[in-house]
Amino acid sequence: MKEIRDINMLAIESSCDETAAAVVHNGREVLSNIISSQIDLHKLYGGVVPEIASRKHIEKINQVIEEALKEADVTLDDIDAVAVTYGPGLVGALLVGVAEAKAIAYARNLPLVGVHHIEGHISANYIEHPDLEPPFLCLVASGGHTHLVLVRDYGNYEILGRTRDDAAGEAYDKVARAIPKIDRIAKEGNPDAVSFPKAHIEGAEYDFSFSGLKSAVLNYINGCKMKGESYDPADIAASFQKAVVEVLVEKSMKAAENSGIYKFAIAGGVASNTALRAAIKQACEERQIRFFHPSPVYCTDNAAMIGAAGYYEFLAGTRHGWDLNAVPNLKLGER
Ligand code: ZN
Repeated sequence: MKEIRDINMLAIESSCDETAAAVVHNGREVLSNIISSQIDLHKLYGGVVPEIASRKHIEKINQVIEEALKEADVTLDDIDAVAVTYGPGLVGALLVGVAEAKAIAYARNLPLVGVHHIEGHISANYIEHPDLEPPFLCLVASGGHTHLVLVRDYGNYEILGRTRDDAAGEAYDKVARAIPKIDRIAKEGNPDAVSFPKAHIEGAEYDFSFSGLKSAVLNYINGCKMKGESYDPADIAASFQKAVVEVLVEKSMKAAENSGIYKFAIAGGVASNTALRAAIKQACEERQIRFFHPSPVYCTDNAAMIGAAGYYEFLAGTRHGWDLNAVPNLKLGER
C-alpha cells in the first residue's frame, strides 16, 4: 500500500498571465513544470487584459495539464491530490484553474487543496534546497507583490511588511516603459549618477513604498526632455535600481537581525533580478545569514511552486470542497 506521505501532486496555476501545470512528488521533487505564457500577447495592449487572460487560460489549460502529465511520465491514475491557486489574482483567470482542478479532483475522487499564490512563491525555495526548513524569512517581490514574510512553520506565516502602494515589480515595469531593458543596461550605468528618494514609513519599519520613487524617475526624465538636456538611460536605470535594492535589502536585514532568524530566502519575479539577488546575497554573507533563492524558472509564476506549497498544506490537513471559489484578494494565512 502507498504510504500516505508519498504524494504525487498535480498542481495548477492561472492567477495572472501564465497558464501552468506541474507534477510534484512529495513537495520537493519536480517531475514536470509546464508554463504557457501570454506575456507577448498582453504586450500589444501595454498590460494584462483580464478578459483576454481568462479566455487564453481556457484555451490552453487542458493542453498544459496533458503536457505536464506526459513529461512527468504519469497518468491521472498516478496522481494522489490536486493543488490549485485560488487567490490572490485576477478573478476570471483564477476561476479557470479552480474549475479545472475541481473537475479533475471530482472525476477522480482526489483530495483538492487550494493554495495561496504567495505561499506558492515562498515554497518555490523548497524545490532546489532540500535542507531548507522553517523558520526562515522570505522577501517576496513580483509585479503584483512586495511582502516581507516570517515563515514560522509550513503553512504558518506572519507578514512583517508589505508595500503601501506599488509593488517593486510594478515600479520596475512603469520605469521600464521609459527605459527599456532596465536590468541589463543598469549594469553599464553609474548608480550614484542621480540621487532618487527612498521612502521610509513612520511607525512601520518593514513596510515599503515605491510609487514616490517611480514618479521621481519619470519626472526626472520628463524634466530633462523639457529642458532639452540629454540624459544617460543607463545611469538612470542604475540609480533607480540602486534605490529599490537598497530599501529592500535594508528592511530585509533589519528583519533578520531583529528576529534572530539567520535563514533568508527571496521569491517572486523580481527575485531573478540580478542586482537584487547579488545585493541580498552579499548582505547575508556579511551577517552570516544563509541565503536561498529559486532558479529563474521557479521565480516567475509557475505550478511547481503550487505543488510544493500544496504538499505541505495537504500534510497539514487542508482539504477544500467542491464549493472552492476564486478569491481575488485572498490574504496570506487565510483558509
Ligand atoms: Zn506571482
